[in-house]
This record gives sequence, structure tokens and C-alpha cells, in this order.
Amino acid sequence: MKIAVLKETAPGERRVAATPETVKKFVALGAELAVERDAGAAAAFADQGYADAGATIGDRASVVQGADIVLGVQGPDVASLTGAKPGAWIVAGLNPFGDRARVDAYAAAGFEALAMEFMPRITRAQSMDILSSQSNLAGYKAVLDAAAEYGRAFPMMMTAAGTVSAAKCFVMGVGVAGLQAIATARRLGAQVSATDVRSATKEQILSLGAKPIFVENVAGIEGEGSGGYATEMSPEYQKAQAELVSGHLAKQDIVITTALIPGRPAPRLISDAQLATMRPGSVVVDLAVEQGGNVEGAVAGEVVERHGVKIVGHRNVPSRLPADASALFSRNLFNFLSAFWDKDQGRPVLDAEIGDAIRLTKDGKVVNERLAG
Ligand code: NAD
Repeated sequence: MKIAVLKETAPGERRVAATPETVKKFVALGAELAVERDAGAAAAFADQGYADAGATIGDRASVVQGADIVLGVQGPDVASLTGAKPGAWIVAGLNPFGDRARVDAYAAAGFEALAMEFMPRITRAQSMDILSSQSNLAGYKAVLDAAAEYGRAFPMMMTAAGTVSAAKCFVMGVGVAGLQAIATARRLGAQVSATDVRSATKEQILSLGAKPIFVENVAGIEGEGSGGYATEMSPEYQKAQAELVSGHLAKQDIVITTALIPGRPAPRLISDAQLATMRPGSVVVDLAVEQGGNVEGAVAGEVVERHGVKIVGHRNVPSRLPADASALFSRNLFNFLSAFWDKDQGRPVLDAEIGDAIRLTKDGKVVNERLAG
């Protein structure tokens, strides 16, 4: 059983899908590990560390040659996988909705593509969930990025020269990233409030010491669909939410938006007119910018200014913390493959609940029901 670890090729991607720690654990399971030269360099994991952990180091062609499993952070280009075993698994974040052509290419090449972002949200798969591990870091980094752009301090400071007031920070979307953003902004001393369409988050916001901002008495407040994800809201709810949020936004210094709906464009939470009511010097970080953006005028990969408000739209925020993001991502991959390791066969054998959820392609076809039609 040969496992190949690739150096990422997507622009700006600094993470790596295995660390010396997980290489060592795979070797202990009996796998042969081959790591592409400099695969971990951008995340501060040197080739020597991988070699010491038991991997061989080589160029892409030699690493892929004869591989049964190819690990990536993002999906590798199919042309670079020549030489991998027929039916080899590609285990990575494959962006199945955003990059359908590549999924088709994996099918045509006969690979079995396993999309880690389709991991079901069930208790036993929590340790395998790349969306959670990466969102957590993104929520933390979003607050630091906001602090870096903000021309004022976060905490209240009483100094001999007078008092600096605490920043007011509003978090929109309280999933994994939003919860970490709340906790981080609180640690920095901001006054924090937050909102979500799922009413279950109210308790969580309170438990972190922040103030919940919620629409009451409008149908559709539950907002929770399958797997704990948000659903699209009724027009009445959206109108009531926009009114409530408008009044609140005008008083905020920092806004972090994280709202996503799987398989759909991100919901628009802040309009240009609302931005115009905010104080000049305020900062808005749009973590959903690559899924279409929660904030009107946000530009992926840029920090832009509208009405004196900075809108931060960094791409691939987890990759801005490459060492920790790689450590958690690679543990997610190891936890997944090791949980299904069949000692007799010396390879992982998936069950239907998880296998069918994440398998995109098999035997030349696209087989995932979320990609049907
Ligand atoms: P997500 O990244 O899909 O979305 C971020 C947040 O935005 C969600 O809380 C969502 O409700 C919210 N949102 C969507 N539309 C909105 C709108 N119009 N206005 C305001 N907010 C809006 O969410 P996530 O971080 O993946 O978490 C979703 C849920 O799944 C959470 O309850 C989380 O605890 C749960 N979860 C479970 C597992 C597991 O059991 N294995 C793993 C991870 C997350």
C-alpha cells in the first residue's frame, strides 16, 4: 500500500496534506509513504522531517508511480497523476461544486475521488472533518486580520492620556468559524455580539460571553436543515433580519461574516447602503468571499475600501496559518484512513455511511448523489 503526499500547486496554497507526525503513524500501520520534495516547505515542515519519519522523498512522477492513495489539500491536476495505480484513491478537499470539470476528469481517468468536505456530520466523523478544523483556524485568523487593518485598539485601555474605548465586534454566522471568531475577539478585549439563522446558536453565543442579536416572532427562525447546516430563509425572515441588522451594524467597528449554505452561493448579509452607515475606519472581514461573498463589494484576494470602511476578502484563510492548518488537516486525513484500516488487507476499506457520502467517482463514473443532475 503506497501513499503519495503531493506538493500543492494551487496559487497561494501553503498547506500540506501530511506532516512528519502523520507520516510516522501511516508507516506504523504498514503503509509505504512517498512525499514530494518540498511538499511541506511552505508550512515549515522540512523534507528531512518526513525522511526521519520513514518516508521516501522524490519528484512528483516518482512519488505518484504505483500509488494506491494520493493525499492532497486541494485536488491535484489529473495530468500529474499518471503512473498511479488504476482505481487509486484521491483523498483531498476536492471542491466538488466549484470544480466539476476536475471531478469528471478523475472519473474519466478511472480514479476513485474522495472529497473530504463531504464528510458527514456525525459524531464518529468529527475527527475527520476538514471543514471544522480549517474553519476554526479561519475564524481565529479573521479577527487577527481585522485587528491588523483596524487603526484602533480592541480592548478598553485606561491610560494617563485618557481612555481608549473597547472595539465593538459583530459576528454574522455562528458555525465553527463564527464561534472561534467570537472567542478570539473576546480574548482581545472587544465587546462582541453575534447573529445566525439557527436559533440553537443563541445559547452558544451567550456561553462565550457575547450578545445574541436575533429576529424574534417571524416564521422560519429555526433555519436548520440536514446535518446542522443552515437552509435558505423565507423572504419575511430575510426582511426582518435585514432591518434588525441595519440598526446594529451602524454601531459596529468590526464585522466578521462567515455565513454559508452548502452547494449554494453565500447569502448576502451586508449591502453597500448598510456599509455606508458604518463609521469610517471600521473593518469588515468576509470569510465567505470565495463562495460569492456575504458583503456587497467584497473582492476575493483583496482589501478594498468603500465609504471609508475596509472590506477584507483574503482567499484561503486557513492557508494563512499553514503550520497549524496542515497539522489539523493531516490529522483529519489520518483519522479517516486509519479508522477504516483493515489489517488483513493492509489497506482501508470504507463502510457505506461514510464511503457513499464522500465518494465522488468510481469505475469511470461520477457516483455521488449530491452531484447528480
Ligand atoms: P457553515 O460554515 O455551513 O455556515 C456558517 C454559519 O452561517 C452557520 O452557523 C449558518 O447557520 C450561518 N448562516 C447561514 N445563512 C445565514 C444567514 N442568512 N444569516 C446568518 N447566518 C447564516 O457552518 P458550519 O461551521 O459548518 O456549522 C454548521 C453546524 O454544523 C454547526 O451547528 C456545527 O456545530 C455543526 N457541525 C457538526 C459537526 C459534526 O457533528 N461532525 C462538525 C462540524 C460542524
